[in-house]
Amino acid sequence: MSAQSQHTHTNSCHEVLAHLNDYIDGELAPELCEALEAHLEVCEDCRVVFDTLNKTLYLVHQLRNTSPQLPETVEYRLFAVLNLEQFVPKKPE
Ligand SMILES: [Zn+2]
Repeated sequence: MSAQSQHTHTNSCHEVLAHLNDYIDGELAPELCEALEAHLEVCEDCRVVFDTLNKTLYLVHQLRNTSPQLPETVEYRLFAVLNLEQFVPKKPE
């Protein structure tokens, strides 16, 4: 896995969402975890995404346990169905 660890601050929703997966997997650098947690405390939108993603990953793990043949595409489809982008406030530019 090639982690993009150049960023030391996670203060935008986009950055938080980009790191959420690693955070849940426990693969995020400690300083990034802190920044992410700090953001989650103040940002309800990201909390909703975090909660949803957390439940989805739990589901995926459950599926993997019960059906080891589960193709990887199912996981990607799950994320696509979630359409996480909708939680990210779009700035008119
Ligand atoms: Zn946010």
